[in-house]
Amino acid sequence: MNAFDRTLEEHKLALTRSVPKILQLNMGKLCNITCTHCHVNAGPGRKELISTTHLNLALDWMEKTDVPTLDLTGGTPEMHPDFRDMVERVRFFDQPREVMTRLNATIIEEPGYEWIPEFHAKHKIVCIASMPCYSPDNVNEQRGVGVFDRSITAFQKLNKLGYGIDPDLKLHLVYNPNGAFLPPDQKKLKADYKREMKKHFDIDFHDLFCITNMPIARYATYLKRSKQLAEYLNLLTESFNPSSVGNLMCRDTISVDWEGRVFDCDFNQQLNMQLANGSPLNVWDIDIDKFVSLPILTGRHCFGCTAGSGSSCGGALVELD
Ligand code: SF4
Ligand code: SF4
Repeated sequence: MNAFDRTLEEHKLALTRSVPKILQLNMGKLCNITCTHCHVNAGPGRKELISTTHLNLALDWMEKTDVPTLDLTGGTPEMHPDFRDMVERVRFFDQPREVMTRLNATIIEEPGYEWIPEFHAKHKIVCIASMPCYSPDNVNEQRGVGVFDRSITAFQKLNKLGYGIDPDLKLHLVYNPNGAFLPPDQKKLKADYKREMKKHFDIDFHDLFCITNMPIARYATYLKRSKQLAEYLNLLTESFNPSSVGNLMCRDTISVDWEGRVFDCDFNQQLNMQLANGSPLNVWDIDIDKFVSLPILTGRHCFGCTAGSGSSCGGALVELD
């Protein structure tokens, strides 16, 4: 039994699945930038992209289910050549699904990607965009020189179309700490972001998601190099919050990688903890009724989701007093 499971047991908690609400599809590792906190080691030189065949198999499967939301991650999902065809297909299912994208806003400023704001607005794609600070230095340090300015210009373009203002055009920003510490209180930080983004850049957005940095992949390498890994793992473990467990995203998410393989979450994906039901599971093999009874695979990194206010792709899991 691993340390995380032992902690659950000590608190008499069980981590079980509920009905899947989100199909989270990793389109591949291609990205135009290389952030230090990136847990998928994405970058401009990466070649891994989901094939058209596997993409269609995943969507064929989704069409037969009631899973209401398709959450696209990467890399930068919009860099996949099939991105637009895929979104159009999902939006025109007999039972259309909501589409979310983990938007790297800088892509809007790259030549050849000018179509993004209008296309996303047309299909009411929910945009969830990384913005680890409202001042340039922290953002450029974590995500690369010039990323702050390009993100600001991109958000202003999205705002012009109603993103961040119109309730049907959701724009959420994502904060993650620029160091080996836990995110601050999400509600208070959201108020600061709202004030500063409006005052300095006239930018509106709907919500702020605070996400804890996961000690895996590129971020784990950074922690190791700076000799902070052990200390950070202790911080996550000691900050275990039992009230976050009921809201963990692995309970209602099906995470799929660029080869169609199924995982409990994007983090388990990077750790190659593929789900199996007799044999390794691909998304097109899932029997959704049986899937609910499959155990969730855990590890020490899971403390990253249960520390403090908890953390998920939708931000904090609980409010602290
Ligand atoms: S964090 Fe997002 S934007 Fe940054 S390198 Fe990774 S995939 Fe690209
Ligand atoms: S790392 Fe994945 S499996 Fe572990 S608690 Fe977080 S979401 Fe669940």
